Amino acid sequence: MRLTRFFLPVTKDVPSDATIVSHQLMLRTGMIRQNGAGIYSWLPLGFRVLKKIEQIVREEMDRAGAIELLMPTLQQADLWRDSGRYDDYGEEMLRIRDRHGRDMLYGPTNEEMITDIFRTYVKSYKALPLNLYHQQWKFRDEVRPRFGVMRGREFLMKDAYSFDLDEAGARVSYQKMFAAYLNTFDRLGVKAIPMQADPGPIGGDLSHEFLILAKSGESAVFCDREVLDVPAPGADFDFSDHEALQAETDKRTRFYAATDEKHDPEAFSAIPEERRVEARGIEVGHIFYFGTKYSEPMKADVQRQDGQLVTIHGGSYGIGVSRLVAAIIEASHDENGIIWPASVSPFDVGLISMKPDDEPVSNFADALYERLNAAGLDVLYDDSPDRAGAKFNRMDLIGLPWVLTVGPRGVKSGQVELKHRASGEKIDLSPEDAVARILGMD
Ligand code: ATP
Ligand code: MG
Repeated sequence: MRLTRFFLPVTKDVPSDATIVSHQLMLRTGMIRQNGAGIYSWLPLGFRVLKKIEQIVREEMDRAGAIELLMPTLQQADLWRDSGRYDDYGEEMLRIRDRHGRDMLYGPTNEEMITDIFRTYVKSYKALPLNLYHQQWKFRDEVRPRFGVMRGREFLMKDAYSFDLDEAGARVSYQKMFAAYLNTFDRLGVKAIPMQADPGPIGGDLSHEFLILAKSGESAVFCDREVLDVPAPGADFDFSDHEALQAETDKRTRFYAATDEKHDPEAFSAIPEERRVEARGIEVGHIFYFGTKYSEPMKADVQRQDGQLVTIHGGSYGIGVSRLVAAIIEASHDENGIIWPASVSPFDVGLISMKPDDEPVSNFADALYERLNAAGLDVLYDDSPDRAGAKFNRMDLIGLPWVLTVGPRGVKSGQVELKHRASGEKIDLSPEDAVARILGMD
């Protein structure tokens, strides 16, 4: 992509209500545009990141055996009357009436709708276990939308829903999501710590929130440093191995980790002092077993192998896809701007032509641009007439992992400068070696 043909409205003007660094950087880099309180347009640069995250979330859900579908944003109130939640949900629900006077709502979550789909089609144990998910916009009329897309009113969530015959089955489905989340966040380049969360009406231990450590986090976090070093299950993890699933949970839950809501100062002080971490955290995911909370009132029953009708046991599993864009920036930036993990970066590499009006320079840069594209890399090519300094600053600000610079001196020696954004390291290389370095082949 040539910058002169792209839409990248970088700006210095940041409103005073943008108090956290990710919000400021997302506005400055032209990733988002606020359209109303807690409502945003995703401009091209931000949209690219959002899509990358969505794709990684999808791949990891699929790997864990979940099946993707898509439910609408607008729902019928009657469905929520079925579950009893229409009156309970309160002010966060955006209620709408259509021209026929029917009560509708903009979905804040989809338990009712998925349970309705399930009860319509699934009648037998043979279809179980089943886990269905989608990635869809939600609306919650938050009292205080703030921090940009971190706490929006309209936001993108991945929500998965599992269906099992009994609690034992539901536990396995839960653990699959637990492991899948660890792999997902690992691929997104962030450390998300699972923490015991409020179990709600059913009780039990099957409720975890996943938090990323960051100064601006809304929750206070207390944990044992060791939990940060447990590696993710990895791409080869066997989701059908029940013992391995249990082991992934145990490996982490044996270390203390809690948000302020669940904090136990006595247990925390039992950890050796040098291992105690007190920090702030951002909730990026929440997994939850709720038993028959929806299947009972909504009559989602299936026939067991012995012929008996049983009410299914469910769980729901959310990831804040749009919140993650901001959370990743909170966890990965410096004074010059964003530092994208390669897996979610809007482009793989930036290319700066220092003198696009100088023919040898622009020919060299054009050839390099072609070479990078041919290697399958997604390139943002700054071919604009701006000053070199402004170009460098803009590239640092938008935070692509690699930046190549072509200038008159390098053209003479046949070399380009390759800069690694995270470390700041610079090295002069031939175009061929530079591409190999970016692809990680040398
Ligand atoms: P929070 O405690 O932050 O309000 P929640 O517990 O109400 O979130 P869940 O219902 O568990 O949220 O939703 C699943 C995920 O969706 C959360 O872990 C979070 O990452 C994301 N999320 C929830 N509310 C918002 C919001 N207003 N804006 C952006 N993302 C959100
Ligand atoms: Mg939650």
